Amino acid sequence: MMDAWPGMGKETNMELHITCIPGDGIGPEIIAEAKKVLEKVAACYGHQMVFTDILMGGASIDAYGVPLTEESIQTARAADAVLMGSIGGDTTRSPWYKLPPNLRPEAGLLAIRKALNLFANLRPAVLYEELAAACPLKEEISRAGFDMLIMRELTGGLYFGERKTVEENGVRKAIDTLTYDENEIRRIAVKGFDIARKRRKKVTSVDKANVLDSSRLWRKVVEEVAADYPDVKLEHMLVDNCAMQLVKDPAQFDVILTENMFGDILSDEASMVTGSIGMLSSASLNDSKFGLYEPSHGSAPDIAGQDIANPIATVLSAAMMLRYSFDLDREADAIEAAVKQVLKEGYRTGDIHSSGCKKVGCSEMGSLLAERIR
Ligand code: NAD
Repeated sequence: MMDAWPGMGKETNMELHITCIPGDGIGPEIIAEAKKVLEKVAACYGHQMVFTDILMGGASIDAYGVPLTEESIQTARAADAVLMGSIGGDTTRSPWYKLPPNLRPEAGLLAIRKALNLFANLRPAVLYEELAAACPLKEEISRAGFDMLIMRELTGGLYFGERKTVEENGVRKAIDTLTYDENEIRRIAVKGFDIARKRRKKVTSVDKANVLDSSRLWRKVVEEVAADYPDVKLEHMLVDNCAMQLVKDPAQFDVILTENMFGDILSDEASMVTGSIGMLSSASLNDSKFGLYEPSHGSAPDIAGQDIANPIATVLSAAMMLRYSFDLDREADAIEAAVKQVLKEGYRTGDIHSSGCKKVGCSEMGSLLAERIR
């Protein structure tokens, strides 16, 4: 696996080893377009992309009887980064969902996240000027636009704490525990501040410190980490207030740093206010430069194989990969600029189409984006 070195990002002639997981449904179609765009970036900026595909999810079940093989995990580990389409099928009709839970497509995703120790989940929520009409907020709020990134802790907290259901004196009682130690908080906070430095240098740490001990520790450790980042502005916000602010004034946010359950809820809320599921990228990182990059949406089996899926979320995930795993900021900027340019020129896939725009398919959208890489 590649290590970061000082000055990285201004390099040319880099060889980027990327494991791709096309997956199921629209996955292979959108990954093909992301590869097309990455190849154009490589040609323009003097790099070499080395792609190795692995099977995961339903495709792996069909080929090997399991959603992820040990060999595929090893291939992913040996790469510098992983780029994924999406996995899963129609959960009511596909035979994959008649299998026991540990053999279903989603088990592959959980297994790869665990094997690669991916503890930091990043979900940008951006409102593009051209797609502002899709935003469900009032025009006076959406007019300002927004560009935030929600950084959620992914492997601790309430979802991974001890749990049990007991019966006491004939009354059923369920217990879930929310635990964080300072090391878990520190490593995600460091990621949050590092990433804020690549953006507008503001971190909003979200907790419930007026009630929860875990949140009070969260706040203390985040403040300790902040001392090493004097150039990044830190503010604290209670989670209930954050849920309100996301719909009242989303433009105020740059990086939102938060624990697992709060992040789960807030990142879905932030996605919804953009109004465009086909545009939302995501990343899951470990404590090196390694990450798994994928669109926020699922495998859309209802539109698979029709060349109508929107590849932009996957292409933007590839841009995140260049920025966060390879420190290739110029190249990532070039992809994001191409997306803005294509939208400005009025090209739209069906999911984001509105009257007066030019409707294109998945493959044509990928070609239009690749052509606009400068
Ligand atoms: P979905 O996101 O796949 O689809 C929801 C709706 O959005 C559908 O109408 C779909 O056609 C549309 N849509 C999604 N992505 C689109 C795109 N790029 N372009 C155009 N339209 C798009 O959610 P779902 O239907 O609830 O789930 C389908 C499958 O995906 C399930 O098996 C689910 O488990 C899986 N899933 C996988 C992941 C993942 O791999 N990380 C995430 C979410 C869901």
